[in-house]
Amino acid sequence: MLLGPMHAIALPPGVQVLVHDWLSSNTVVLFDDAESASVVDTGHLARARRTCEGVRGALAGRRLRRIVNTHLHSDHCGGNAALQREHGGPQQCTIVVPAGELQAVNDWDESGLSFVQAGQQAESFAAAASYADGQVLQLGGLRWQAHAAPGHDAHALMLFQPDSRLLITGDALWEYGFGVLFCEFDSGDGFAAQRRTLQRIAELQPALVVPGHGAVFGDAQAALRRAGERLEMFERDPRRHVAHALRVLLKFHLLEQGSMLPLPRVRQWFEGAELVARIVRRQLPAQSVAAAFDSTLDDLCRAGAAVLRDGRVGDPEVDAAARADTP
Ligand SMILES: [Zn+2]
Repeated sequence: MLLGPMHAIALPPGVQVLVHDWLSSNTVVLFDDAESASVVDTGHLARARRTCEGVRGALAGRRLRRIVNTHLHSDHCGGNAALQREHGGPQQCTIVVPAGELQAVNDWDESGLSFVQAGQQAESFAAAASYADGQVLQLGGLRWQAHAAPGHDAHALMLFQPDSRLLITGDALWEYGFGVLFCEFDSGDGFAAQRRTLQRIAELQPALVVPGHGAVFGDAQAALRRAGERLEMFERDPRRHVAHALRVLLKFHLLEQGSMLPLPRVRQWFEGAELVARIVRRQLPAQSVAAAFDSTLDDLCRAGAAVLRDGRVGDPEVDAAARADTP
C-alpha cells in the first residue's frame, strides 16, 4: 500500500489502495473474506502487468472474484482483461460496470466507448453485470452505496462506505481538481453535472477519499473548495476548459505511447481522433484542428509537460530517459 508520507491515514481493514501514476488509475483491493477479493478500477493497458503484479501481491493467496469499474475510461479499465485472464477468466472473475455502459462494452461499440473515440489503447473485455446509482454492493465484507457522478463521464459512479465514510471517487474529485468534464462536449451539461456531483460529495461528508489518481486524502472539504473554485473558473471562461481538455488528451497520448514520436505522427493522431475533432468543431468553430494542435502542443511545451526535440515529440521523462540511453 502506497500512501503519501504526510498522510497518516488508516484505511478500514480489508481495504488496500495501489497508487499508480497519472496515466493509470489507482486500484482499490477489497478483501471479501479469507479466500476471495474484489478490486475497483484496473489502470491503463500499458501498466496492466504492473497492476496484475500489485494485485497479486495484495491478494496474498486470495482469489480475485470481481472487478468493478467506476467508469470506463482507458486509464480505469485497461487492466480488466489481463486481471480477469489471470484469475480464472469470466467464469471465476466477474466484471461489473456502470449500468449506462453495459450495452456499449458488451457490443464493444466503437461509437459508445470513449477510448475508441479518443484514439486511446484498450483491450476488449465483456462485463457480466452492472450497477447503478442507489444500488448497494457488498465489497470487502462491507456495504457500499453507489452514487452517480456525472460530469467527467456521464455514466460514472462513486462508491461510499457509510460506516467508515470512505468514498471512492474515480475522477469526480481528486485532492487537487477533477477529471476533464467530457459531458460538456457530449451533452453540453458538464459544468452543471459536475456541480451536482460535488454537491453530492459534500452531502456524503466523506472522512476519507480514495481518488482515481493520487494519494488517499482526508480533507474532503478543502478538496471540494478547490474543485468548486476550479469549476467556477471554467464556467466563467469555458475556453480555458476546452484548452485544458485538449492538453490533457494530447499529454495522455504522449504518456500512453511512452516514446519520442515523430511530430507528423502525433499531429496525425490528434487530427484523426474523433473526440478531439468534436471538441474543436463544437467549441472552437473558428479554429481548424491543425491550428488547435499547434497551440495545444505549444502550451504543453511551454509548461514543460512535453518536449519537441529534433522533430520528435514526447513526455519530458521519456525524452530524458531516451537521452540518458544515448552514448
Ligand atoms: Zn476518467
